[in-house]
Amino acid sequence: MAWFKKTRKPIAAPAKEKASRVPEGLWVKCPDCSQAIYNKELATNLGVCPKCSHHFRISAVERLRMLFDGDWEEFDKDLTSTDPLKFTDTKPYGNRLKAGVEATGLKDAVIVASGAIDGIPTMLASMEYAFIGGSMGVVVGEKITRGIERAIARKMPSVIVCCSGGARMMEGALSLMQMAKISGALARLDRARLPYISILTDPTTGGVTASFAMLGDLNIAEPKALIGFAGPRVIEQTIRQKLPDGFQRSEFLLEKGMIDLVIDRREMKAVVASALRFMGATSAAAAPTAAPAPLQTQGTTP
Ligand SMILES: [Zn+2]
Repeated sequence: MAWFKKTRKPIAAPAKEKASRVPEGLWVKCPDCSQAIYNKELATNLGVCPKCSHHFRISAVERLRMLFDGDWEEFDKDLTSTDPLKFTDTKPYGNRLKAGVEATGLKDAVIVASGAIDGIPTMLASMEYAFIGGSMGVVVGEKITRGIERAIARKMPSVIVCCSGGARMMEGALSLMQMAKISGALARLDRARLPYISILTDPTTGGVTASFAMLGDLNIAEPKALIGFAGPRVIEQTIRQKLPDGFQRSEFLLEKGMIDLVIDRREMKAVVASALRFMGATSAAAAPTAAPAPLQTQGTTP
């Protein structure tokens, strides 16, 4: 028998969240304005509805294609989770990992790569929501941390595209430790005076929001993205109150000073590049000659 009883019933969950993923087929119906959009038109428009600017969820690879000028070099592609707790909920974690690999072709929920953004050599980490909700386990934490450390070694800025449901609870406390690990690496990046930009996309929640997603020198969100720590449903059921309209959406957070900018996906690359330049990043051609020169002249003067 339970010692405590909940006298009031929890409020009912709101209607099912609409899926925002681009479905297969020739035509796609926009969940926002209900218009039919030709699939190719949507692809050339970076997954943004041409009629109402609804941002569809896009994959991690599409993010890399969108931000980098051309090719990129991918790192730690083959890191995989060892399932340290041999965890099972409704199905074994091992099966979830396998399903994630089959659905995305990735070994875990993030791609870390270096390439040029408008000529600026940059380390970019892009999270994949289709892999267990983009959750942050040991592999995601390790890949991002190594990426940041590589950025420090190569003296390049870091950009992380966040798209995640938070920490991966199937890895228990180990997944929570990734928050501190990545934040520590970002502190070292900061000490090396290298810029870091966080791009928050729909959704960015849980431990990701509570660590690196909000630590950018600039935190840029896409329009109407869900950004928060606990989801709106959990908060509603805890405080038993209806939340205001647009709560935990980019525009609301911008108004409250939680993020710096809300930028349309089609403008994202230009904004990121100009922000990186503003923070002192230089293009590949300019970088090698600029840095060592003053050192040499100092060394040779008597
Ligand atoms: Zn639309």
